[in-house]
Amino acid sequence: MPSLLFEQGAAGRGSDFVRPSGSPQTFLNAADLRTDLPLPDLTELDVARHFTALSQRNFSVDTNFYPLGSCTMKYNPKVNEAVSGFAGFADLHPFAPDEGAQGALRLLWHMERTLSSLFGMDAFSLMPAAGAHGEITAMLMAKRYFTERGERDRVTCIVPDTAHGTNPASAAMVGYHVVSIPSTSRGRTDLSALRAKLDGSIAVCMMTNPNTLGLFEDDIIEMTRAVHEAGGLMYYDGANANAIVGLTRPGDMGFDLMHLNLHKTFSVPHGGGGPGSGPVGASAALSPYLPSPLAARDETSGAYFWDEERPKSIGAVRAFPAHFLAIVRAYAYIIVHGAAGLRENSRLAVLNANYVRAKVKDFLTVPYADHCRHEFVCSAEDLKKQTGVRALDLAKGLLDAGVHAPTMYWPHVVPECLMIEPTETENRHTLDAFVETLRALVTRAHEDPESVQQLPKHTPVRRVDEAHVGRQANKGIGLRWAPPEERA
Ligand SMILES: *Cc1c(COP(=O)(O)O)cnc(C)c1O
Repeated sequence: MPSLLFEQGAAGRGSDFVRPSGSPQTFLNAADLRTDLPLPDLTELDVARHFTALSQRNFSVDTNFYPLGSCTMKYNPKVNEAVSGFAGFADLHPFAPDEGAQGALRLLWHMERTLSSLFGMDAFSLMPAAGAHGEITAMLMAKRYFTERGERDRVTCIVPDTAHGTNPASAAMVGYHVVSIPSTSRGRTDLSALRAKLDGSIAVCMMTNPNTLGLFEDDIIEMTRAVHEAGGLMYYDGANANAIVGLTRPGDMGFDLMHLNLHKTFSVPHGGGGPGSGPVGASAALSPYLPSPLAARDETSGAYFWDEERPKSIGAVRAFPAHFLAIVRAYAYIIVHGAAGLRENSRLAVLNANYVRAKVKDFLTVPYADHCRHEFVCSAEDLKKQTGVRALDLAKGLLDAGVHAPTMYWPHVVPECLMIEPTETENRHTLDAFVETLRALVTRAHEDPESVQQLPKHTPVRRVDEAHVGRQANKGIGLRWAPPEERA
């Protein structure tokens, strides 16, 4: 079993990677070698205080509200951490033979099956390290699928104009020609524009549903049908799965391939909190192409093993078969909530987003009339026309109130966009306080716009000097450190 880990290394490096031998003096330039190592003369307490002070400067979900749209910054339950710290999981050697890792393999196998049933897929690979890595993994699978079918002329990937930037990037990285399609005035993908792009060159259509405007697509079944009729595959970007877990399944919508972001939907820490995980799911026709190995079970003996006998697989997409402890955290989250709890979380995420949206509508433009799913977009375009205060200024003002900025200026189809995702784990008090903070900023913009344009005042780092950045983008980013006495 260890052979797979050595021989199918990331990016094909594996077995031909030669570790230098001998002492560093034999393979490093003399000029690069340090001759003395000045260690600071500090006590353990000095060091502990220094690092504790640094850690307290971190902005995190544990300390403050974090409504960063599309990122699902939900609470990361401490029970996940406790379970991932169990010695049998945390101390497992990555090259342990299958016989010595039955519990871990069993958990991974269960996770593959659980995700498959939650999302209506035939199988899941837990190998990809993040969402974007899942996307490119799936694009490689699509490519292999069409190559095997002798359909090498399929070179086009269709991506809606609201898509996350990683979608066109992943498609381009495997050599697909990316074609963008517009959204309608209802913020949905334009079905007739999609149909107009469908011909024998279509390989994949990448969709996010609900899309990045927080809206569920009107015509998803018609879209998957039309793409299939043209011989193409449907890819589901599952970054917004927090709106749908337990309510609907991409497999039932007709998708062939998908990724999940366990670090979004399934409460694995991210944003500086730890490694991500971007499992890829596939329908029965596509699952033979999933990365290898998959966790498998011998039905006769009941033993678990790494299945490497998968001749159609695209192979390994990195050195190890999973970010194991990230999977353990997500698995703990699933077990703790159960099917009904997961469904309830999705419902609450949607409810919280609609609650905030209904209030924000009083003082900022909300461009789409429908109820949203787990997030919504609003626009500071009208405010900017009236006062000169932009989405950026509001976002900076929120920092002073201890709130993480929403996602800004994306999706591009909404000018002066702020994308707000409260998640299900925030209580009503926090949501109300956030709305009132934002309302106060808008009121202040009407009364004294310059003062809003100078925010934040209380953060260790003030505004980036945008003019400076524009002029000298390659010479540093113009951060100005505000001394404590200036943080009024
Ligand atoms: C976050 C996100 C991705 C990329 O996921 P990473 O885990 O950050 O690589 C892709 N699509 C959408 C819509 C996202 O929000």
